[in-house]
Amino acid sequence: MDKNQIFRKIPKVDVLLEKEKIAEMVNHYGRKNVMAGITEELGRLREALGKVQDEVAAGKALADLEDKIAKNVEKRTKPRMELVINATGTVLHTNLGRAPIAYNHVMELVQKISGYSNLEYDITAGKRGERYAHFEKLLCELTGAEAAMAVNNNASSVLLILNSLAKDKEAIVSRGELIEIGGKFRIPDVMEASGATMVSVGTTNKTHLEDYEEAITEETAAILKVHTSNYRIVGFTESVTIDELTPLAKAHDVPVVEDLGSGVLIDLSKYGLSYEPTVQDSIRSGADVVCFSGDKLLGGPQAGIIVGKKKYIDRMKKNQLTRALRIDKFTAAALELTLLEYLSEEKAIQNIPTLRMITKSAEAVKKEAQKLLGVLEKYDFNAEIELVSLESQIGGGSLPLERLPGYGVAIVPKEISVATFEERLRKLPVPIIARVADNKLLLDVRTIEPSQYNIIGDMLESMEAFGK
Ligand SMILES: *Cc1c(COP(=O)(O)O)cnc(C)c1O
Repeated sequence: MDKNQIFRKIPKVDVLLEKEKIAEMVNHYGRKNVMAGITEELGRLREALGKVQDEVAAGKALADLEDKIAKNVEKRTKPRMELVINATGTVLHTNLGRAPIAYNHVMELVQKISGYSNLEYDITAGKRGERYAHFEKLLCELTGAEAAMAVNNNASSVLLILNSLAKDKEAIVSRGELIEIGGKFRIPDVMEASGATMVSVGTTNKTHLEDYEEAITEETAAILKVHTSNYRIVGFTESVTIDELTPLAKAHDVPVVEDLGSGVLIDLSKYGLSYEPTVQDSIRSGADVVCFSGDKLLGGPQAGIIVGKKKYIDRMKKNQLTRALRIDKFTAAALELTLLEYLSEEKAIQNIPTLRMITKSAEAVKKEAQKLLGVLEKYDFNAEIELVSLESQIGGGSLPLERLPGYGVAIVPKEISVATFEERLRKLPVPIIARVADNKLLLDVRTIEPSQYNIIGDMLESMEAFGK
């Protein structure tokens, strides 16, 4: 086989550009994008031809070049971030974007974001306003705090609080609370970055009030309590509550700061879940500053929400760091809409996707699983499909021991392995992210919207060796 002769078959760029299909693409996507696609595909083709052994294989490599270029150009001009179907049942899946924003909220955001808004403008006074003004009053009303603000995420909250209150001073924290949240967020490291000197007290499993008392000096500028969101120490343990700490802190005029992590505004134990400390409880117990995430159990946009005594919040608002950590208009607008739902607990549970999903009863989830099963059974899939009971997780480092009893659909393909099936699900036009257990693929319906059932069925039908 003459390799040179084969390489000569590679079309010249000018010739390609004159092809009708490619010329159309130039009109649609612009010359630069099409040229980039052509260059990449020709490079691939050369590499492939370098490896072929016979004419047949060479013919195969040379085939469909225009289609390959078209796909390449389409892909490079399409957003990489896309909708996926979360079939894992994990409600706050950090890798899948944590809390989904309510569809109606997004629709309401469209105008404010695509046009101008009063983000930092006081319309009544006709002058500069505060971007926190849109939700500060709401947060105070909901939590009982005097003042509030929000930054980029809760890791920023902790950094900003410590930097504002305890830079070049000491902050006391229990050794039982020196946690790592994930994504490299470690309390000792954040403390160091904030410029505060960490004074750790007590032991991993037990910290007493005297431990804090003995550590308080002239240099103490804050006592930090961290909610150990994503793990639990059980057994021979003891920790000091905010209630117990407050009198001591007051006597020394030191603020008590609590990093609540998830920060719920609704007592979830009413809905059969474990009690997770609410922000209101923390304020009522006497915490001077409380911070929590916007996109964990609150179910809103990514944000770090800080509430507490006005004199401390004012110091944070004036801190230079705030300029670097401030939220943008997307977040401010979405956070306000999320918080407005909390004016009625019922509305919050109904309208905030995270809350709706975690409070769904096992019976309700079972009905949905039966619906999905019904939809899938209408196709004649090459697989065993059955309803199964399973347990979902909340995720996002929230209520780590909690398992939500639920249901889903288990699929065992007949002609392909479960592993291959799982991989192919990820490559569908709308990728489905699912779990595999006991050599079955599980679609947990807790996190799937019923409007997606038919889409799932249609996509599976087009799957080779599974659908048709
Ligand atoms: C999740 C968490 C954080 C970090 O919050 P992000 O919003 O993800 O930055 C900080 N502290 C605690 C206790 C947490 O659980």
